[in-house]
Amino acid sequence: MPGERSRSLYEEALGLFPGGVNSPVRAAVKPYPFYVSRAEGPYIYTVDGERLIDYVLAYGPLFLGHRHPRVLEAVREQLEKGWLYGTPTELEVALAKKILRYYHPGGMVRFVNTGTEATMTAIRLARGYTGRKYIVKFNGCYHGAHDSVLVGAGSAAAEYGVPTSLGVPEEVARLTLVARYNDLESVERIMRQYGDQVAAIIVEPVAGNAGVIPPKPGFLKGLRELADRYGALLIMDEVITGFRLGLGGAQEYYGVRGDLTTLGKIVGGGFPIGVVAGPREIMEKLTPSGRVFNAGTFNAHPVTMAAGLATIEVLETGEPYRVAREAASRLVKALEDLISRYSVKATVNHVENMFQVFFVDGDVSSPEDAARSNRELYARLHEELLRRGVFIAPSQMEAVFTSAAHTREVVDETIEALEEAFKRLG
Ligand code: PLP
Repeated sequence: MPGERSRSLYEEALGLFPGGVNSPVRAAVKPYPFYVSRAEGPYIYTVDGERLIDYVLAYGPLFLGHRHPRVLEAVREQLEKGWLYGTPTELEVALAKKILRYYHPGGMVRFVNTGTEATMTAIRLARGYTGRKYIVKFNGCYHGAHDSVLVGAGSAAAEYGVPTSLGVPEEVARLTLVARYNDLESVERIMRQYGDQVAAIIVEPVAGNAGVIPPKPGFLKGLRELADRYGALLIMDEVITGFRLGLGGAQEYYGVRGDLTTLGKIVGGGFPIGVVAGPREIMEKLTPSGRVFNAGTFNAHPVTMAAGLATIEVLETGEPYRVAREAASRLVKALEDLISRYSVKATVNHVENMFQVFFVDGDVSSPEDAARSNRELYARLHEELLRRGVFIAPSQMEAVFTSAAHTREVVDETIEALEEAFKRLG
């Protein structure tokens, strides 16, 4: 549990940062966030002298675990050569080629600095390309912290009760049409009314900001068909799933392709990144070849490019996927056994190396189902695990992630902690 040193830092932080933190979900760790001194492999070490097994992994980017030696070496090498030039590098050419090979062969990339910037740019691009102004998104999906997508948003926006943020002008919010995830009929209804004015449908192929909710069979394919029928672009927001469900992300995993792909998190190897990728015909509309504006002082940052490239090279061995999948499968099985042994009303959703438990009677196949789950029980599970040295997402609206660093021994220790935690949940 967070100790004295963390408490005093948090008290100071409360006077410095709104809510004491710089991104809202960090304040969901109760009674106050722990402060980190260092991290290595599957472990975070706190300023209070604790070692925690980390299943948050900075909310997704650290698929190789903390401080992976190959990434460290690449970053160190780049730092020795200087870290920001404001002019292109070989590294960005190499990383773009890797990304395009797996997501849009023959296409193009724009590097930005966050997933937020990636979806903001992709939406502007879709509007510029189609000449239309509406977008369709799904209730409970999260695409970052810019105005167009802070309507019916998931993640911390849902956790803190502001799915539609104050400060987003009504005129802007009105251009975002909100459908229900895993409910094609809700999209069809919107498209029947607005279809010829919809620039893009944006979706998280696995909803990962309302817990973890996999797409129902046919859902993504149905979106592809609806986008085609009405001449809208399909934006696959793979900020979480990209390079996580395999090198080709969810689009390869489920066999459905978007017109544009947004990436972030893993592809930056733990450094700030966002990516928009798509076919040349659309991408060339971006400045300077086209008239849809995008720019950034830090775009294609050399340190990020080096970290991303090293990360993908390790991923290409396939080993990280094997370890992370096995870790998640064993944890999910342990959770399901405990749920049954203690007759708890709960269900576990799981895709490859991401999962979440929902304390609810019945299945969770939509963010609306997830919202019915007992968040208090989830918070207690989080707290009981933290007490036993295991850090899972502090909010039900996030995913539990495994990584290449979650070996059998680490998972064994976690299962023991889970058993102790469940004893105290009843
Ligand atoms: N899109 C998805 C699916 C995300 O999960 C997130 C962040 O969690 C974003 C976009 C925004 O990315 P960032 O936090 O890097 O701005």
